[in-house]
Amino acid sequence: QAKMAGKNCYRFYSRAMDQAVERRVRMEQELRGAWERGELSLLYQPIHRLSDRKVVGAEALLRWQHPQLGSVPPSVFIDVAEHSGLIEIIGPQVLRTACAAAARWGAGLAPSDLPFVSVNVSARQLHSGDLPELVAGCLRDAGLPASRLHLELTETAVISDEAHASALLSKLHRAGVRVWLDDFGTGFSGLSHLRRVPVDGVKIDRSFIADLQRDPDDLALTTAIIAMAHSLGITVVAEGVEKEAQADLLHERGCDLAQGYWFGYPMTSAEFDQLLR
Ligand code: C2E
Ligand code: MG
Ligand code: MG
Ligand code: MG
Repeated sequence: QAKMAGKNCYRFYSRAMDQAVERRVRMEQELRGAWERGELSLLYQPIHRLSDRKVVGAEALLRWQHPQLGSVPPSVFIDVAEHSGLIEIIGPQVLRTACAAAARWGAGLAPSDLPFVSVNVSARQLHSGDLPELVAGCLRDAGLPASRLHLELTETAVISDEAHASALLSKLHRAGVRVWLDDFGTGFSGLSHLRRVPVDGVKIDRSFIADLQRDPDDLALTTAIIAMAHSLGITVVAEGVEKEAQADLLHERGCDLAQGYWFGYPMTSAEFDQLLR
């Protein structure tokens, strides 16, 4: 009896697993060529300076609208793109598109008022091909100054091969591109890496920001990250700011920049350009 149940159980799980694998394979097939079919697009979420609440830049966020699957969340398809290697095709397209969009923003504004664009780069892109060359090419073609491009890397991407990452980031840094560590605080890497890896900023993960007003530990950690980063000359950005009180508290603690639904949802390039005026 037990043996039977076990067997059925096994069969059930194995079928469920087959289905999950099948879904992933199907998704991978659909993702291939999605850019050419116009299903992938970028939205831009404003990033504000806390001292005067001015918009200073935007993060480019990828969206996938599939005719049958509907809108597939980035948490799902970015993972598929990374594991299948498709990110090495999609990543450069994202970079190229974001640079071209940023070059069009704020026409007529004073150069010091022109915003930067911040682009997510996955670990796989960091460790394959020549990222500095790709970046230089995109900037040149778009006519965008390097200072107006920021790259967001996750802690884990950087620490998995610190020596390689350091060399690469130094190269980008010398070219004038800023590098930010994304989802900071979630990767166990701690602040000691900031001494060895040349980064210009950290983005405090939104899980620390959500309960900032109620959870004294979150506030203590956030305050410590800000103090430590500033002592190293590193800019601090808060992610996932959904309430004015969070923005006020972060400003009071010395946080430099913030991003979140309270400031603005991800929007089209044209909408972002409108916001600047
Ligand atoms: P991320 O880089 O940490 O991006 C921030 C995410 O937080 C975005 O989710 C954004 O829509 C969401 N968000 C912004 N403000 C708020 C808020 O106030 N509250 C809450 N709850 N969420 C907020 P999204 O667009 O779903 O992207 C998820 C992740 O997918 C990104 O996390 C990033 O890691 C990845 N991703 C998105 N676009 C790209 C891309 O072009 N390339 C790569 N490699 N990864 C990307
Ligand atoms: Mg990001
Ligand atoms: Mg993040
Ligand atoms: Mg995140």
